[in-house]
Amino acid sequence: MLNEIVLVGGLIFVFTLLYLSFLLPSKMIGNDEDDKENSTKTGGRGGDRDPVLRELSLTNGQINRMNKEEVRQKLEELHLETRGVKEVLKKRLKSYYKKEKLSPNSTPERYDFLLVIDFEATCMEENPPDFQHEIIEFPILLVNTETLIVEDQFHSYCKPTINPKLTPFCTKLTGITQKMVDKAPEFPQVLEDVLDWMSSKGYGMGHSRFAVATDGPWDMCRFLYQQCLYCGIPYPRPFRKWINVKKHFANFYQTKGGTKLEEMLASLGLKFEGKPHSGRDDAVNIARIAGRLIQDGCELRVNECLNNGRVEPVVSQRAKLASSN
Ligand code: AMP
Ligand code: MG
Repeated sequence: MLNEIVLVGGLIFVFTLLYLSFLLPSKMIGNDEDDKENSTKTGGRGGDRDPVLRELSLTNGQINRMNKEEVRQKLEELHLETRGVKEVLKKRLKSYYKKEKLSPNSTPERYDFLLVIDFEATCMEENPPDFQHEIIEFPILLVNTETLIVEDQFHSYCKPTINPKLTPFCTKLTGITQKMVDKAPEFPQVLEDVLDWMSSKGYGMGHSRFAVATDGPWDMCRFLYQQCLYCGIPYPRPFRKWINVKKHFANFYQTKGGTKLEEMLASLGLKFEGKPHSGRDDAVNIARIAGRLIQDGCELRVNECLNNGRVEPVVSQRAKLASSN
């Protein structure tokens, strides 16, 4: 009888030891994980982990436990940007370690140039639901994604034809006067000039990669789409897909501060440069946000497209692979 009790006790002891050695480490590491990307790549919790990814998980956990001042100090030590809200600073530090520890092969694929666009359009103080907006300002900034320098820009006002007289509200909002649009070409001509300018910058020649970038989907799905329909011209191919910077910002930093232009800038510790709702100034500020995202390690890829006038998400091959693992 005594032997049986000793045997059963021994077995319980051995099983308890086995349970602790298999399960506890993964649970402890699990507490330190916040990075969805890393846990997908490692094949889930407790699986066979690449030692580098495991180390990254631990580092991320440590960063999560740091307060804002500690993160700021660490960024300062590393000579990195220290402006921004807590979530932004933490993401910046995590991205830094991720880049340091992962092999150079895993650095994000980049477009050579961003074409940052922000349309202004005719409007009323209370736009009726059926109001036909017409594009009145067409700015494009050509941003080199390596240097983050605006290498060139296209800019033109457009003369509206459905509502040729701008409302005082529209002028006040956008800074665009009646005189500016009266002497501007009509939209079809401006679009032709845009496409010529893009070709002159190497668009479509195959030696550089370009991507259109905007603050949300509206510029393409509403203003450009409606304008082309109204003018009876085919929707231009280069604008069929784009980088929605707002969407990347929200997914990457996960801040609580909102995603209006001024709010995104505030989360990054930056102020709006110029006049809000001026197309060119809006584009400059979108480019600043896009540049910060790139510097902080966000893979700024095309994430939306237009299909028969409807906006659809574009999912990258990498994201598809990660979610199917
Ligand atoms: P945004 O890029 O935010 O400057 O807006 C683009 C266009 O949307 C403007 O040129 C207006 O036609 C319209 N819009 C923006 N904000 C307003 C507003 N508060 N009231 C009416 N229309 C607006
Ligand atoms: Mg604007």
